[in-house]
Amino acid sequence: MSAEAHEFKAEVAALLKLVTNSLYTNSEIFLRELISNAADALDKARYQALIDASFAGKELEPQILITANKQTGKLIIEDTGVGMTHEEAARNLGTIAHSGTLQYLSEVQKARATGDLSEAGEINLIGQFGVGFYSAFMVADEVVVHSLSGKAGSEPIVWRSKGEGAYSLEPGTRSERGTTIELHLKEEAAEFLDRWRLQGLIKRYSNYVMHPIKIRVIDEQGEDKDPDPAQINAASAIWAKSPSDLEDGDYAEFYKHVMGGFVLPGDEPLGKLHFSADAPIQFHALLFVPGRAPADLFQEDRKSLQLYARRVLVMENCDTLLPQYLRFVRGVVDSEDLPLNVSRETLQENKQLAAIRRQLTRKVLKLLAELAEEDAEAYAKLWTEFGSVIKEGVHLDGGQRKELIGLLRWRSVAKGDTLVSLAEYVAAMPEDQKSIWYIAGPDESALRNSPHLEAVRARGEDVLLMSDPVDEWVLQSLSEYEDKPFRSVTQGDLEEAAEDDAADENADEDSEDEAAKDEGKREPSPIDPLLNLAKVVLGDRVRDVRASKRLTESPSCLVDAAGGLSRNMQRILRMAQPGSKLEAAPRILELNPDHPFVKAASGLSEKNKDDLRLPEWIEILHDLAALSEGSVPDPAGAAKRFQKVLNEVASAAVEGAGG
Ligand code: ADP
Ligand code: MG
Repeated sequence: MSAEAHEFKAEVAALLKLVTNSLYTNSEIFLRELISNAADALDKARYQALIDASFAGKELEPQILITANKQTGKLIIEDTGVGMTHEEAARNLGTIAHSGTLQYLSEVQKARATGDLSEAGEINLIGQFGVGFYSAFMVADEVVVHSLSGKAGSEPIVWRSKGEGAYSLEPGTRSERGTTIELHLKEEAAEFLDRWRLQGLIKRYSNYVMHPIKIRVIDEQGEDKDPDPAQINAASAIWAKSPSDLEDGDYAEFYKHVMGGFVLPGDEPLGKLHFSADAPIQFHALLFVPGRAPADLFQEDRKSLQLYARRVLVMENCDTLLPQYLRFVRGVVDSEDLPLNVSRETLQENKQLAAIRRQLTRKVLKLLAELAEEDAEAYAKLWTEFGSVIKEGVHLDGGQRKELIGLLRWRSVAKGDTLVSLAEYVAAMPEDQKSIWYIAGPDESALRNSPHLEAVRARGEDVLLMSDPVDEWVLQSLSEYEDKPFRSVTQGDLEEAAEDDAADENADEDSEDEAAKDEGKREPSPIDPLLNLAKVVLGDRVRDVRASKRLTESPSCLVDAAGGLSRNMQRILRMAQPGSKLEAAPRILELNPDHPFVKAASGLSEKNKDDLRLPEWIEILHDLAALSEGSVPDPAGAAKRFQKVLNEVASAAVEGAGG
């Protein structure tokens, strides 16, 4: 086989361009990336040696040797790991296999498009997503990789690139299983030949790497200063130690390690769980609740807990160790009792793993509950970052429902920015309040100003604000708390609802019945003539027009029929299924009989129901109700109508002043 020249895939070329031009304060992370690749390769080798009898190089000591050659200006990172075959080198070093890296690129592009990304920001992003191997080009103008795979019958290879769009791949000379990465350092990156600089970086980023990392320095004259290099890193599994032997700093450092070597400023874990269990299955766990939502929280291939079996990494991202709704938790689980050959396929049926999962779930929920109890500020932060994810659990996890419900928080009308639990809400209910009120919609500040709240607020009752799209899903499976039903203030007839809780519960199943009752039970109202006229004027656009008991200040509002799908739920369903035929059901227009404008309209309708102003005023009342929710169906028409009334008011004022 002779030298082959290859072009990088387009996305690699784009990435390289970015990376090669970045020699800034953070370029040092290249070392962490290369060491972590070497450590991965050693883990894989250890594992491979256990399951593959023909795997070569079983006698090799696992180690990562870093040679700084001051004579040649090269930095060399060498491991005795799995190595790469020709195909693997082409695939792993010529394309971007790692989705985090692709995401990094798209984030950079997005941030650039909006113009809010500095160069430092780009490098921070590199740290966050880990551009991995390619970060070598931040400090090197040429990278040469020698590798020999342990797979039976493999030939050594050598891969070279100057990071300018092409690489070559040809037969190599390496005689032992493993990989050597040679960096021809750029002049500006000569600092990475300094022993103390390297040592500091290893301690900082790679201290817990479980394999020995050693440094060898060759001086300007070519003299080997470390014929017998010493180990630099601690290389011990922090999770297997007793918490009493560890300090805050140890955890902080390990947190960085778990988060991929890099955490954003201000990201300190909100909670930590470190324990060992012996029965029914032995394991160590060291878990963190991150201080910030990881960028991949809603991605399919997000990071997850690392699973070790007897200190051998068996799975980098094991998402079966905790339920989905706790997927923001990061850390390590290590068990003596797991077989080494667990695979993604057998995970589901693995009984030991199921036992670990049960214990972890219980412990994490307990940790969250304690945090909620003891540190409201931290819990508020946690809820902001992960509340939506936790809420998924109420829907999904039958077993832990009670615990999960205890974790739920919302903001409320009365409590401002403070988060309220259901227990707190119920405790603060006035004696005759029977329902837990809520109002749902996309925009919290619009909800706070909604006219629907007026009467409830006047009675001194609080209303939960639900602006998260998952809220109403959660309520569907919750429906009540301590025998208090959840009720939307935009649905049904408020006072009836409050009085007829028991009756309504039975009617819940059948929304048509409920709606019929809603319309049927009609007390006579002094504004009946206006209501009847409005029904004629608005026709199909409303389901009914009635006198409101929920308004005290505003003239009008739109409400949903009791029992049916709420407006917000319909909106969410439409969002989830674009193009679906889910039509917006007509709603009920409520008019406030005590409002001066409604009174005036009512007076006019009694005097002369054919007055031409009446249909316009009724339209205006309808417009105002829609406007208070944020959108008017016919803005231009509405503007004209408002203008006309304003003109009348203005000329009346001028006449009044003149006369
Ligand atoms: P990641 O480590 O996230 O997979 P990298 O860009 O760091 O992404 O590395 C790309 C791939 O190259 C690795 O997944 C691995 O397959 C291969 N690789 C890199 N360094 C080594 C090494 N020292 N030994 C064996 N394979 C390696
Ligand atoms: Mg890597």
